[in-house]
Amino acid sequence: MSNEPRRAGRHFLQIPGPSPVPDRILRAMDMPVLDHRGPEFGKLGLKVLSGIKTIFKTKGPVIIFPASGTGAWEAALVNTLSAGDTVLMYETGHFASLWKSLATKLGLKPEFIESDWRAGADPTRIEARLKADTARTIKAVCVVHNETSSGSLTRIDEIRKAIDAAGHPALLMVDTISSLGSADYRHDEWGVDVTVGGSQKGLMLPPGLSFNAVSDKALAASKDAKLPRSFWAWDEMIANNKSGYFPYTPATNMLYALAAAIDMLHEEGLDNVFARHQRHAEATRRSVAAWGLENLCKEPRHYSPVLTAVVMPDGHNADQLRKTILEHFDLSLGTGLSKVAGKVFRIGHLGDTNDLTILGTLAGVEMGLGLAKVPHKPGGVPVAMQYLAETARPFPG
Ligand SMILES: *Cc1c(COP(=O)(O)O)cnc(C)c1O
Repeated sequence: MSNEPRRAGRHFLQIPGPSPVPDRILRAMDMPVLDHRGPEFGKLGLKVLSGIKTIFKTKGPVIIFPASGTGAWEAALVNTLSAGDTVLMYETGHFASLWKSLATKLGLKPEFIESDWRAGADPTRIEARLKADTARTIKAVCVVHNETSSGSLTRIDEIRKAIDAAGHPALLMVDTISSLGSADYRHDEWGVDVTVGGSQKGLMLPPGLSFNAVSDKALAASKDAKLPRSFWAWDEMIANNKSGYFPYTPATNMLYALAAAIDMLHEEGLDNVFARHQRHAEATRRSVAAWGLENLCKEPRHYSPVLTAVVMPDGHNADQLRKTILEHFDLSLGTGLSKVAGKVFRIGHLGDTNDLTILGTLAGVEMGLGLAKVPHKPGGVPVAMQYLAETARPFPG
């Protein structure tokens, strides 16, 4: 017997990633480890390597790394760039800042378009900077699709248009670690050169896998790129992947899980998955507004379907509130990161989430606001209930 008191029921993991893993995925992983050079493995490899393309919406290769999302960030850069290359990055929040410091450590020269974290990337600022770059020193434009620290979603189609309007040859790289499988994403249609993904957020998997979806232009750039790379190198991966195998041991049981996740997303229908996330985000925002609290994202066109970052009233600490809620209701909410530490808490509404999970989460927040004596108006939960009831549909089938 453990000394820890038992907590009945399921923990509410409502941070914006890792997201709760469905039982079906946990069961899919519960398999004997198989020989990753044997005949059976090749079938699994081919299945997930082709299946994952339907989630990125690409016909090109998607590379699967046994790594967290940070590894796939590094892979995107080291495969396509050379030391001293300038990359244009946009400060949508903490994750964009981390990607920028990773680029600096690799010997790249990131140019950072700074912002107040209260909206997604502004395409006009990117276009203006690219137009001014007549010497074409900028080799890549890097943006975060869903900025998980601030709850803003950048319109990638608009970023593509901005690059095209400037007639600039830079590669477009997009971090979709927290949005893939939760928000619509179109690697090919939006002309993205490298998309970086991760397993533990919209894909509903445990942490441990990450992805690069790669365009022909990025593959061509990788032939001339000089940054050192070995573990992250695309060429050996792509060569081995043709027959469903990997150059080194893949995360075998995570690939069983990935196959199940891809099936589940298609069984629900990707458009239904995205609409579900939009509804839950809207319900959450209505509660936040009813409490009289502020959404960190100020631009309605950029509201995130994945999470909502809620600004605390002055003089009240978000982490104290999170602690109260965790201790009383076994509900985990996201902490404020770096610039907004203590000032915001984040409600995740991504992954395997339904109406009652969201209402339970909002109820936990509202009760916590009361217990922690955070000034607010009660009645946020009924507002969300009303919206969800008005927009409810029976499950198809
Ligand atoms: C979670 C996250 C990351 C970091 O991924 P790790 O798996 O923790 O390495 C990067 N970017 C975004 C947008 C994220 O949400």
